Amino acid sequence: MPLEDYIKAGKIAAEIREMVRVKDWIGKTVYEICEEVENEIMKRGAKCAFPVNASINEIAAHYTAEPNDPIVIKDTDLVKIDLGAQINGYIADTAVTVCYDPQFDGLVQAAEEALGNAMSMIKTGVKASDIGRTIESTIKQKGFKPIANLSGHSLEQYTIHAGRSIPNIWSIGGFSLSENTAYACEPFVTTEQGGGFVRNGTIKNIFAINSRKKTKNDEADKLLDFIWENFNMLPFALRWITKKWEEKEARELLDILIKKKAVQAYPILIEVNEQRVAQAEHTFIPMESGVTVTTKAITQKNE
Ligand code: MN
Ligand code: MN
Repeated sequence: MPLEDYIKAGKIAAEIREMVRVKDWIGKTVYEICEEVENEIMKRGAKCAFPVNASINEIAAHYTAEPNDPIVIKDTDLVKIDLGAQINGYIADTAVTVCYDPQFDGLVQAAEEALGNAMSMIKTGVKASDIGRTIESTIKQKGFKPIANLSGHSLEQYTIHAGRSIPNIWSIGGFSLSENTAYACEPFVTTEQGGGFVRNGTIKNIFAINSRKKTKNDEADKLLDFIWENFNMLPFALRWITKKWEEKEARELLDILIKKKAVQAYPILIEVNEQRVAQAEHTFIPMESGVTVTTKAITQKNE
């Protein structure tokens, strides 16, 4: 397993996540956030594993900025910033919630604590259902609800969701963690008034290749080749195409690819009762010598 690439990607992602955590994003647009975080990833010699997600309040996940997206972060917002770095397709997936309304600090802390408790129990052979139980009980003890239909996942080269799920609630059955496999663990937390589920929204601004079958439209096929060469099977945003095609044309070509099922569009995910959602996420690899949390924060000790 290309451990070195996983570790390198993880270090970069962790460094940026900690920068995102302490920065004041109030007044910035989601476009500025996504572009800035993505540029930080590339500046450090990695590629983006997916478009940076900046999901506000009741949007739990899968919102990335449209080209020149005008949505501005307000001082009452809670924003999940989910970022992925990859080296040779080996991915570090990590997220942080920034919150400017103290009323929701508890929600953010519950997500962090659930992730911390999950991280302290992981090793080869641990059952995913037991991780889910820990996440669920940590969140419920604090008077909140886990999002039951969002989960962590195994990772493989150029594949973010590689087949295994690490649930955020206790569930029957499931698998045990394998040695030398990368996983992401990502508790999502909502308020007591939340339904504890997400539904698909109508907005779709994250895409990925489904099939490389030609569409018989030369320009659409050119875009499909561009997507494959630059993003492989990994998700991408319209912003990443408008650097080469004009926005109007890019949208039309992308629509053709979606209609031909060459490209899939992912909807944003919204809490069913439109309650706020917080998230925390790490990527880790169980190994013989112990667990490597590739996205662990590097804390500097001053002595
Ligand atoms: Mn993520
Ligand atoms: Mn993830």
